[in-house]
Amino acid sequence: MSEQTGGAGDLAAERGLVVVISGPSGVGKGSVHAGLHGLLEGLEDSVSATTRAPRPGERDGVAYHFVDAATFDRMISSDALLEWAEYAGNRYGTPRAPLEDAVARGRTVLLEIEVQGALQVRDRLPEALLIFLVPPAFDELERRLRDRGTEDESTVQARLEVARSEMGAQEHFDHVVVNADLEQCTAEVARHIARARSGL
Ligand code: 5GP
Repeated sequence: MSEQTGGAGDLAAERGLVVVISGPSGVGKGSVHAGLHGLLEGLEDSVSATTRAPRPGERDGVAYHFVDAATFDRMISSDALLEWAEYAGNRYGTPRAPLEDAVARGRTVLLEIEVQGALQVRDRLPEALLIFLVPPAFDELERRLRDRGTEDESTVQARLEVARSEMGAQEHFDHVVVNADLEQCTAEVARHIARARSGL
């Protein structure tokens, strides 16, 4: 690709960034993600492909690209997805081309994805900024699950297993941010993004 126009300073300032917001389900990824748009300029949302059915109000191409299983298979085999994962019986993946295009235009692309997908981004795009959100009292999860007494032991174990593997992924992220207070958490994530964009 040619870099004949613009000085080196311009190019450095315009370099795009991929930001992954991840963490265990229910931690508030969507709220933090939405809040970032009010705090930072130049953000672009990655629109994932999914095999799940649209929920009421979700528009194709906005919330997600809603595709059938055969289309998703083709996207995988043609390497059109940067990452993908199965979650609760459906598949979700990040289309590679729009992301690469936005980064080339100096944009900051936000991916709001589950943990397995985030780890794939870590491998395939080491320069991406990975942020892991945690709930304030996650270590109480086991106690709460048991105290509630509504789940049988195998369900408790299954949930703990998912939670454990998700929490164990923290070390692969650049930043772990506790979501105790939405506003504070969003501001902290925005600071990490701003710092990464300025190359610090
Ligand atoms: P939902 O069905 O509630 O919209 O999303 C279910 C989960 O899939 C959420 O944790 C969401 O962040 C995650 N997700 C959405 N898009 C993607 C994607 O492109 N890749 C991966 N790995 N996870 C995704």
